Amino acid sequence: MADEVVGIVGAGIVGLAIGREITRRRPGTRVVLLEKEPRVAAHQTGHNSGVVHAGIYYTPGSLKARLCTRGAAMLREYCADRRLPYDECGKLVVAVSADDVVRLDALAARAGQNAVPGLRRVGPEEIREIEPHATGRAALYSPRTAITDYSRIAQSFADDVAAAGGEVRLGFPVTRIAPAGGGLEVASDADALTVDQLIICAGVHSDVVSALAGDVAGPRIVPFRGEYMRIRPEKTHMVRGLIYPVPDPRYPFLGVHFTRRVSGDVEVGPNAVLATAREGYRRGNVSLPDLYRIAAWPGTWRMAARHWRTGIREVYGSVSKRAYMTAARRYVPEIRAADVVRDGSGVRAQALDRDGSLVDDFRIHRLGPVTAVRNAPSPAATSCMAIAEHVLDVLDG
Ligand SMILES: Cc1cc2nc3c(=O)[nH]c(=O)nc-3n(C[C@H](O)[C@H](O)[C@H](O)COP(=O)(O)OP(=O)(O)OC[C@H]3O[C@@H](n4cnc5c(N)ncnc54)[C@H](O)[C@@H]3O)c2cc1C
Repeated sequence: MADEVVGIVGAGIVGLAIGREITRRRPGTRVVLLEKEPRVAAHQTGHNSGVVHAGIYYTPGSLKARLCTRGAAMLREYCADRRLPYDECGKLVVAVSADDVVRLDALAARAGQNAVPGLRRVGPEEIREIEPHATGRAALYSPRTAITDYSRIAQSFADDVAAAGGEVRLGFPVTRIAPAGGGLEVASDADALTVDQLIICAGVHSDVVSALAGDVAGPRIVPFRGEYMRIRPEKTHMVRGLIYPVPDPRYPFLGVHFTRRVSGDVEVGPNAVLATAREGYRRGNVSLPDLYRIAAWPGTWRMAARHWRTGIREVYGSVSKRAYMTAARRYVPEIRAADVVRDGSGVRAQALDRDGSLVDDFRIHRLGPVTAVRNAPSPAATSCMAIAEHVLDVLDG
């Protein structure tokens, strides 16, 4: 439709990738991104591990499996084109116990179905060749897993949107969405915009903003803080690329891992601690309205009843650096608590269903003129360009 206006709530990497894709596919459409913060990529996009996943973990046929593989290939090409950092430093998923080996084999079968490029199983000697300070019984090696800088990619997408005639309005917290003529009025306390279509990509606030637009069904977002430690510069030689544990299939999180950054820093983390505020980057951050929403959702209590042991372990690791590093030392035994310093953290927007299940796959709802991205956890940064294609297909369909 010519002269159509599409509003997007949220200028994280998902909203920006969708905005950019609209300007490419629908040249007559005006795109306006509304972002509450004074800059793009202020939340998950700017507080993550910077890994471009290769698609090892995801249920074959799921949106995550399909969009991660395609998204990684698109991102690789985009970064090469724009001269943005993209380093295929490779990743080892390491089994340290007999149980791990069984789960590693299941993971290898899954990765095979997902056609992960170049993936192979390696033994203890080859682990040492790839990562001289790591140890394990067996591992999966993914040479194409990469690292990048998602904040820079997000800024580049914002520049693309502006260059194509779109707009990114910063400092615009959407507080009201109401029908207006054939479309919608999307407003902050100070400003308003009328749109024909609205796409919600509000990360940790996606359930709240969706509810403003009448999409009141679950899932609800439960924030999980992920805290990082940074390895002191004199010890970063201990990690060449990425070293991950074999994930526990009951959780959507990958476990504390070692991550090389494009800056040359090496980080350990993130853990996964239930946060007491949606933007609770520090342990002391508490928001009573957020806590109320989390506590009022039946799924929270069902999840707590199922996973309280893991919850207590994660909180202990959060408080005690020594406990945190005990888990990490199973993979790189020489690393000591004294070799790391506490670093930043990120807050994951993890959707939780009413029955207490952590929503694993990406979830996108469409309700008339509103399309809401209700669950876009990792690997959504990797997958962002493919998620954008998918959302446009949903809109066109
Ligand atoms: C600790 C951590 C590590 C991760 N590691 C990886 C990784 O290595 N690889 C990977 O692929 N993925 C990773 N992820 C996941 C990835 O970062 C996210 O999936 C991705 O950034 C989601 O992007 P988004 O645009 O949906 O959300 P966000 O980046 O959170 O953006 C949402 C935006 O919406 C805005 N907003 C919210 N409410 C409103 C409102 N009312 N009005 C206006 N604006 C609003 C927010 O300010 C925010 O800017 C990680 C995430 C975390 C937290």
